[in-house]
Amino acid sequence: MAGTATHHGIPLRSGSGLSYRFDPGALGFELLPTGGPDWMARYEVLHTPEDLRRWVGQSRLDPTPEPEIGAEDVPAARALRDALWRIGLARVAGEGPADADLATLNAAAARPPLVPVIGQDGAAGWAAPATGAQVLSTVARDAIAVLTGPYADRIRICSGDNCALMYVDTSRPGRRRWCAMENCGNRHKVRAHRARQSGE
Ligand SMILES: [Zn+2]
Repeated sequence: MAGTATHHGIPLRSGSGLSYRFDPGALGFELLPTGGPDWMARYEVLHTPEDLRRWVGQSRLDPTPEPEIGAEDVPAARALRDALWRIGLARVAGEGPADADLATLNAAAARPPLVPVIGQDGAAGWAAPATGAQVLSTVARDAIAVLTGPYADRIRICSGDNCALMYVDTSRPGRRRWCAMENCGNRHKVRAHRARQSGE
């Protein structure tokens, strides 16, 4: 659900200025690279309703109809995202999530979600009007499905140096190590190559 064949991940820029796309494996985790709690607040990109609308366009959600996003949806999106970060980090650490974070996630999911529709051409879309709360509910429901589903133990942090991106490893062998091959994967390859050349 909520997937499109054309989706290739959220556009990001690495610390060294490289543009690449990051596919965290599930809609519910696509909010994470927009910022986060604690030290991640310096990477915040959700400041205005327009910022949230842009994220919808970058996500695997079908962006049509364009959701009616209000000012109140921005702090709600940040709160949901930060709760998801903490729940995911707890899961990675083998710890239980905080009650407050589960409450935030469950409250978002309790709102009515986007309603899928099929068009004359067989293409999927959403019933109009679509609201910000519906978008966040759909994200929260997807996150719950991941956290309780077959990939619940496949939540990982990128193995790259100084990379904290979180994803769900939905690969068949379950050995995904990187946020993106063209970012941390390649940097690792280059470093391993140099280490071999210098005989380390
Ligand atoms: Zn990475």
